[in-house]
Amino acid sequence: MSDTIFVKILRGEIPADIVYEDEHCIAFRDVNPQAPVHVLVIPRKDLVNVATATAEDAPLLGHLLNVCTTVAEKEGIKDTGFRIVANNGSEAGQTVDHLHFHVLGGRAMTWPPG
Ligand code: AMP
Repeated sequence: MSDTIFVKILRGEIPADIVYEDEHCIAFRDVNPQAPVHVLVIPRKDLVNVATATAEDAPLLGHLLNVCTTVAEKEGIKDTGFRIVANNGSEAGQTVDHLHFHVLGGRAMTWPPG
C-alpha cells in the first residue's frame, strides 16, 4: 500500500476527525476546510483516484457516493444542497494520491469552479 497521508490516517498513525466509517471507507473533516462543512470520503482500498479505478471498483465507487450523502445528512446539509468533488490528477488540483471525494456545504457555492 502506498504511503500517503490518507493511508496513515487509515492505519491510525496520524489523527483525524472521523465522522463516519464502515468496512469499505472512512470519512473525516478536511484539515483546511473550504466551506463550513468539508469532509473527505476515502476508500480503505489503495486507489489513486477515480481515473485509475476499474470496472471492478464500480460497486465501491457507488458506495462512496452513497456515503457522501450519508455524511451530508449527518452534517445537516442534505436538504440545503452540497457539492461532491473528486480532483483527478495534478491539473485538477489533486494533492493527495489516494482516492477521495470532497463533501462541501453549509454555504452557497459558485460555478464554475476555479
Ligand atoms: P486534493 O487537493 O483534492 O487532493 O485534496 C486533498 C485534501 O486533503 C485537501 O483539501 C487538504 O486540505 C486535505 N488534507 C491534507 N492533509 C490532511 C489531513 N492530515 N487531515 C485532513 N485533511 C487533510
